[in-house]
Amino acid sequence: MQLVFSKTQHRHDPRHFLSSGAPQPNPEVPGRIDRLLAGARAAGLGEVAPDDHGAGPLAAIHTPEYLQFLETIFARWQRIPDASPEVVPNIHPDRRDFSYPASAVGQAGYHMADTACPISEGTWEAAYWSAQTAVHAARMVVGGERAVYALSRPPGHHAFADLAGGFCFLNNAAIAAQELRRTHDRVAILDVDLHHGNGTQGIFYGRGDVLTVSIHADPVRFYPFFWGHASERGEGAGLGCNLNLPLPRGSGDEPFLAALDVAIGRIRAFAPGALVVALGLDAFEGDPFGGLTVSTGGFARIGARCAGIGLPTAIVQEGGYLCDALGDNLTAFLTGFREG
Ligand SMILES: [Zn+2]
Repeated sequence: MQLVFSKTQHRHDPRHFLSSGAPQPNPEVPGRIDRLLAGARAAGLGEVAPDDHGAGPLAAIHTPEYLQFLETIFARWQRIPDASPEVVPNIHPDRRDFSYPASAVGQAGYHMADTACPISEGTWEAAYWSAQTAVHAARMVVGGERAVYALSRPPGHHAFADLAGGFCFLNNAAIAAQELRRTHDRVAILDVDLHHGNGTQGIFYGRGDVLTVSIHADPVRFYPFFWGHASERGEGAGLGCNLNLPLPRGSGDEPFLAALDVAIGRIRAFAPGALVVALGLDAFEGDPFGGLTVSTGGFARIGARCAGIGLPTAIVQEGGYLCDALGDNLTAFLTGFREG
């Protein structure tokens, strides 16, 4: 199995976010990359750098206004007297069906769901290469690789077509799935991150060609709060093509694997030609978010069962935060996948 990775992803280095209203150090730090890289190398993966596949794959998922915003907002923000060093929203539209704002402050509110995704000088470049990493992995899968791991950072699954949120800017897993759609009529996304993949769900909610399945901590009292409930099943052509499997807080390996079996049953019934695994490692028992209690051995079993689906697979990195076992959990998943 190959690992796709770009060093440019280090350039996004967010400082703060608000947790229950209190300023806290932002946990989506560049140091995550080094742990994940060590974990992938320990699993014996070969390493390739992504090519620049251009803006097309990003524009297939995200709106022109949003991409323009991400690319230009930092420079525009610097021209505002007494503005914060990072772009952080201080106003949000309570409804999004009125006029698109012209000002930098208005657009930050329009395009940023929360304070967890501050934009600094290197953010666009890092997010761009995080997405290119996912595109490159998907194209390698299209080219015949059984499975490829994209070390994408910043992560992507909370980003909607025109909205950043939850440390995410560009939805790498959605972009990879759209790439796989070029050669497969149906594609499935299996999201095993601790948090619900709300952006991914939102992007494909009305589509019947991409199945979205997410296993996560119950959002009733957990981020992202407004999405991730079992009643959300898709709409229009996509009705029945979204499956949410929320787990009670504190759930460990056995409930997680039982939910995974349900997810796999749904994916098999959908009969996709290819799979994207949105691989968060923050369901770990030692992760600072403390939402679920999956063990390192549990990640090996999750990897083996994902491999058992038997599809060409792009594995796209999502969350998983600094703790001693972060790299080991990736090694466990990738080793489990390869042996599964
Ligand atoms: Zn997460």
